[in-house]
Amino acid sequence: MNTAACEKEAPSLSRDEAIAILDTPDEELEALIDRASSLRYKYKGNRVSIHILTNARSGNCSQDCAYCAQSCRSTADIDKYKWVDEDKLYQDNDFVNDYHLSRHCIGLSGMKFTDKEIEELARRIRKMKEQGTHLCCSIGFLTEHQAKMLKEAGLDRINHNLNSSRSFYHNICSTHTFDQRVRNIHMLQGLGFEICSGGIIGMGESKEDVVDMLLELREIQPEALPINFLLPIKGTPLGNADISQLTTEYCMKVLCLARLLVPKADIRCAAGREVYFKDEEKKLLSVVDSIFASGYLTEGGQGIEDTLKAITDAGFTYEIESA
Ligand code: SF4
Repeated sequence: MNTAACEKEAPSLSRDEAIAILDTPDEELEALIDRASSLRYKYKGNRVSIHILTNARSGNCSQDCAYCAQSCRSTADIDKYKWVDEDKLYQDNDFVNDYHLSRHCIGLSGMKFTDKEIEELARRIRKMKEQGTHLCCSIGFLTEHQAKMLKEAGLDRINHNLNSSRSFYHNICSTHTFDQRVRNIHMLQGLGFEICSGGIIGMGESKEDVVDMLLELREIQPEALPINFLLPIKGTPLGNADISQLTTEYCMKVLCLARLLVPKADIRCAAGREVYFKDEEKKLLSVVDSIFASGYLTEGGQGIEDTLKAITDAGFTYEIESA
């Protein structure tokens, strides 16, 4: 075995073995959770990292992602603005630091930006980095020059999700490709950014698609791997999606598989946590080590105090990173 393989220490699950994990009978789920949980404790202890997200730019996106309220296909009634009020952005940043949360995530709708817009974002990043906050931007495709501008401003991490498998991708988006996303991530990794990349479950994809997406993420080895469970939004093409497949058991199997395939990543249960894991916090946190405390782009989330209580009640501590 070579050194790189040793360092990776990922169980070398084959594609068929990964599919079999999603097919685990519900009566064998506890054993699967135990298997995933041992990796969670090995690499993450009993800490839970918490994030909040500020929507710095909302709506009017040129892209047509079928799940997204901000897309050009969406008629969902959402706030639309080019820049969130700066006071709100900095107040959210203070909130992250006051509560000693792990990271401040900043979402921007859109796929392409001008250099002038990136410089405006860089200015805001420099200001927040004065507080020492660990910052992540969820942002579309950057040119290498733009990515370097953000790196120089102090941005730590970039979120760029794969969302689904390569072969399913055309069903959810026609304005850019899966491979453009993969190339963008590799460019960002080459510049030294930490990467947050994951997907959305429940858009009509097969179990094979879920596995293929996670295998691609195993290649990428992101620092964080967020899994979103679809919350259909009225006015989007997936507004009436059939989500009957998203039982708590199935969602748990997906998260277990993510932990088994990319064990060292922060495995995050992002959108859908309050719906699909209601009253299952303890079990959930034995597999994932990362959650959002409030707000998933335009969807409301559980409040911070409730979230902290759910974590401590379940016997975990929350991570203090950004103080
Ligand atoms: S997910 Fe991002 S790129 Fe796709 S429509 Fe929404 S804001 Fe635009």
